[in-house]
Amino acid sequence: MSVPLYQLPEQQPSVWQPTSVEEAMQLKQQWGDNSVLISGGTWLRTRWENGLSPTPQHLISLGSIPALSGLTIDTVGHVHIGPACCLSDLMENELIRQRCGLLVQACSEIAAPSVRNLASIGGNVVTRTGDLIPVLLVMDAQVGWSDGQKERMLPLEEWLESKHFTSYEMMTKIVVRASEQDMGKSHAFYLKVGRREAFTPSVVTVAGSLRMDADGTIVAIALSAGGGSAIPARFTELEDAVTGKLLSKEVLQTLHKGVSEGFEAVADDYAGVDYRKITAANLIVSECYKAWRKGGGAYAPRS
Ligand SMILES: Cc1cc2nc3c(=O)[nH]c(=O)nc-3n(C[C@H](O)[C@H](O)[C@H](O)COP(=O)(O)OP(=O)(O)OC[C@H]3O[C@@H](n4cnc5c(N)ncnc54)[C@H](O)[C@@H]3O)c2cc1C
Repeated sequence: MSVPLYQLPEQQPSVWQPTSVEEAMQLKQQWGDNSVLISGGTWLRTRWENGLSPTPQHLISLGSIPALSGLTIDTVGHVHIGPACCLSDLMENELIRQRCGLLVQACSEIAAPSVRNLASIGGNVVTRTGDLIPVLLVMDAQVGWSDGQKERMLPLEEWLESKHFTSYEMMTKIVVRASEQDMGKSHAFYLKVGRREAFTPSVVTVAGSLRMDADGTIVAIALSAGGGSAIPARFTELEDAVTGKLLSKEVLQTLHKGVSEGFEAVADDYAGVDYRKITAANLIVSECYKAWRKGGGAYAPRS
């Protein structure tokens, strides 16, 4: 006798296809906790199948709301990304390829193409642990939220820290500044360490952007880490502490200590907290060192 992997709900959920943010939020108000907003459904489906959350009676699909799928650039060069855009569309879009190269790289390291054809950037962010978040953090992303009436913008970092988010709001946009690396002004990086080479959940993800003067003085630096169940975060105090300093062996040591102490890693069955902290610190310092050498770091030591 075959055993089903998971129990199908007795009643299949209804799928609603609103065409505006207002209509979607009205449906959410109407169906309350018996409903969920769904974009690609790749994350939600895994949770339902594994019994981590019940399948709700009403799925409010975001796929027919044109305002959630736009990709535009404004007059000051900020890129506006609709949260319902799927990862494969982002990877193929010329604007994103030219202005957000690091984001394209991060998308390409998530799951397999079939999943990326469905998985959305908004869904990745709303899970709070998605692998795109470290990149969006170093791009100073702002996120727009609407309750169907009013929209508010706030820094992604603030939203991640906030405990006041309700499921009666919807992410309506992600706004990033074009990366300086794509304009040839800084060294930027994204690294994902998983349990195997490809098609793997992350153990640690780091992202960063570093701009130096010709003499090796740090002009601007942005660093973040996440991975596994950790909520990704920037190292703002550490960034402030090294900005304006000449990159040196001591500064690299400061960065290593700051990242390993500051990264709020979460252990699971595969890797402990210490391993994750040290890995994040090693990755970030090695990239800063590479930038130092590459950026004419005449004073960079060879080891
Ligand atoms: C085989 C497989 C491999 C995967 N590998 C990775 C990986 O390597 N890295 C990684 O980060 N993730 C991975 N994922 C998880 C998932 O695919 C991604 O996080 C994806 O980007 C989620 O997007 P989605 O559109 O499918 O989200 P959904 O499942 O539709 O939604 C996710 C959450 O976001 C909410 N939501 C979605 N859009 C909005 C919105 N606009 N406003 C408010 N709430 C919203 C939903 O209600 C839900 O709570 C993997 C999944 C699978 C099945």
